[in-house]
Amino acid sequence: MNDTAPHFTPAEAEGFVRDTFDRVVQASPLPSERDQNFQLKSADGEMFVLKIAKSDEERSTLDFQNAALKHTAQRAPSLALPRVVNAPSGADIVDMIDRRGQAYLARLVTWLDGILFVEAMPRNEELFASLGDALGTLDLAFRGFSHPAMGRTLHWDLKHVEFAHAHFPLLPAEQQPLVRRFMQAWEAVDWKQLRKSVIHGDANDYNILVRDSRVAGFLDFGDMVHSAIVCDVAIAIAYALLDAPEPLAAARTILTAYRRKFPLNEAELASVYPLVVGRLCMSLCYSAYNAREKSGDAYQQVTSAPAWRLLQKLAGVPIELVSDILSGDRKSPESLLANRRRLLGRNLSLSYRTPLHIVRGSMQYLWDADGRQYLDAYNNVPHVGHCHPRVLQAGCEQMAKLNTNTRYLHESVEELAENLIATLPDPLRVCYFVNSGSEANELALRLARAYSGAQDLIVLEAAYHGNTNTLIDISPYKHDGPGGRGAPSWVHVAKLPDVYRGECRRSDPQAGIKYAAGVEHLIAQLRSQGRGLCGYIAESWPSVGGQMALPDGYLSNVYAAVRAAGGVCIADEVQTGYGRLGGSFWGFDAYEVVPDIVVLGKPIGNGHPMGAVVTTPKIAAAFDNGMEFFSTFGGSTVSSAIGLAVLHVVQDEDLQTHALNVGERLLSGLRELQARHALIGDIRGSGLFLGVELVRDRLSLEPATAATAAMVNDMCAKGVLLGSEGAFHSVLKIRPPMPFTLADADRLIGNLDDCLSNYIPR
Ligand code: PMP
Repeated sequence: MNDTAPHFTPAEAEGFVRDTFDRVVQASPLPSERDQNFQLKSADGEMFVLKIAKSDEERSTLDFQNAALKHTAQRAPSLALPRVVNAPSGADIVDMIDRRGQAYLARLVTWLDGILFVEAMPRNEELFASLGDALGTLDLAFRGFSHPAMGRTLHWDLKHVEFAHAHFPLLPAEQQPLVRRFMQAWEAVDWKQLRKSVIHGDANDYNILVRDSRVAGFLDFGDMVHSAIVCDVAIAIAYALLDAPEPLAAARTILTAYRRKFPLNEAELASVYPLVVGRLCMSLCYSAYNAREKSGDAYQQVTSAPAWRLLQKLAGVPIELVSDILSGDRKSPESLLANRRRLLGRNLSLSYRTPLHIVRGSMQYLWDADGRQYLDAYNNVPHVGHCHPRVLQAGCEQMAKLNTNTRYLHESVEELAENLIATLPDPLRVCYFVNSGSEANELALRLARAYSGAQDLIVLEAAYHGNTNTLIDISPYKHDGPGGRGAPSWVHVAKLPDVYRGECRRSDPQAGIKYAAGVEHLIAQLRSQGRGLCGYIAESWPSVGGQMALPDGYLSNVYAAVRAAGGVCIADEVQTGYGRLGGSFWGFDAYEVVPDIVVLGKPIGNGHPMGAVVTTPKIAAAFDNGMEFFSTFGGSTVSSAIGLAVLHVVQDEDLQTHALNVGERLLSGLRELQARHALIGDIRGSGLFLGVELVRDRLSLEPATAATAAMVNDMCAKGVLLGSEGAFHSVLKIRPPMPFTLADADRLIGNLDDCLSNYIPR
């Protein structure tokens, strides 16, 4: 126990207040770290706090507090702040002598009704916003206030990184690397740029008063100091976030409300997050010190466990990304939606019942404008992760050096082609680079026509290959869907080898052969009509058709029949390539076939617009008929640098094996859900390419289209992004960026379990 602490009895406190303040009260002790405080009740119901400072407290420090309380009470009358009560003598700081003759300085302030922030539940947006608003009001009230004691040195003042640093070695070894990283951000704060004032200095969750579910005011001005103003809001955020389910969203809410009352400049905004994590590091360092010095002082330890949990949670989010999320000014969703309606074509669709305003991404996570984090289980374009640092660096560096087309010699396009070809089997040895999957499929068709000399093409039911005129013609998903005009005469649609709800099911070992016979039949029909065959195109794992694997023997038989008829076999690997399936690098690898043309898109540029076609030297030679092939942006120096970086990341991080492992975890979780939820009819796919087909009835297989839409939206509300797919829009599509982890898989399964359990069919 601190030997400078006062030790008065309640009776002594009552006697003192009667004699000095002329008030008859009942005293009961309040907890305090260093001083002694009593709650006082008078007979007429008035309540006060008697604050008795430790014996070595400076009178000037107490005078500083009283003066600040009087100043802010006058400037911010809307805030609930303790009011200083003067003695009849006019004094507001009075000597109080104990039994041993030791003198202490005592003050009387009004009691404030309400609960502490730490007790307030639920911590909703309104509560967080009211905290920012009240603190902004307080900091505004502090402006212009000064006092001779305000320049004192205080350990908890965030400008004193050095005090925390001195205790850093006392931290548990497992905490040190992370704390060091955050402390570096704190140390980098440019203090000269930050405006100074007297601040509260300790708006922690025990010093914030809540009434009617809103922050009403602040208690305990004992840590007031002259420091950077922005520290006040940073400290409030640091404590308010402890154990908050959506810390960045809560932080943004507090900061936005604070700025409405007290605008911050750019340097101050940039320093908020480093100071927030700085405060958490400071708390951990002092806790470690106190644990040693004071054998685990409970008052000090109270925040260390949640502070550590919070730092761990924040660890995966790049610091500059957080600063942007916290303070970036954004348009409202309503105005964005209105502008979109006015400026963009109406048939550009938006995902989810409540459209998302996504502003940042990092690996498998996305953040919306309110700071809410989403687990991305849907987007395959950012194959190696949103904003992967290596891809970003490769693109930025090349952009700063040169970005030209393929009409000049350059290493990058050749290196990309070489590396890409190395992942493909013989005789796929010639590359073309374009800018999208659509362009790649267009080119694939030109190659096939040049080689075969024919036009007629066999496609799969429910397939999608791109957005151009010709590709809509070969995409039943579009030409047989709303607004479509059916297949043209040169397009022949083969049955989707759907072994769940199609003609031949999984129980039939001949299913693959039978579906292939359907293609052979189409070829025979063409032949009988005297028409040649240009080729056959399909996704190696029909994705748009509903995330399915092709049955055994199907593709090998189809390819043999197509080739025998002079046609070319085209594998659309836009969704399935680059290791996503886990078991193989390419979708077609899984069936031990080799296509004549492979079409690549989405993932190969990780979001940078790229597409590619890889074919055989023979087909390439047939295409080389005198007409130049040129794609202005395809294979540019920047695109090639990016494409190469993506390929290297896939290989260096062994994302294919990772996809296999995480996919197994997802599959076993999904199977467990299927055992408990009748809605799940079928589970299929491989690696990080999975489909969950929902049915209203497991016998009739009636598609549960409405339930699928509900699941996609309910999962979004829980912060997990999925999509839907398939001819009946009844397949949940799980197709995340490849860094998706085992823990992410568990989060997805847990949330899906909740959504399925709570689903009420209409
Ligand atoms: N093929 C497949 C299988 C696709 O999924 C897509 C895009 N959804 C495309 C081709 C067309 O690619 P892009 O949108 O890049 O033109």
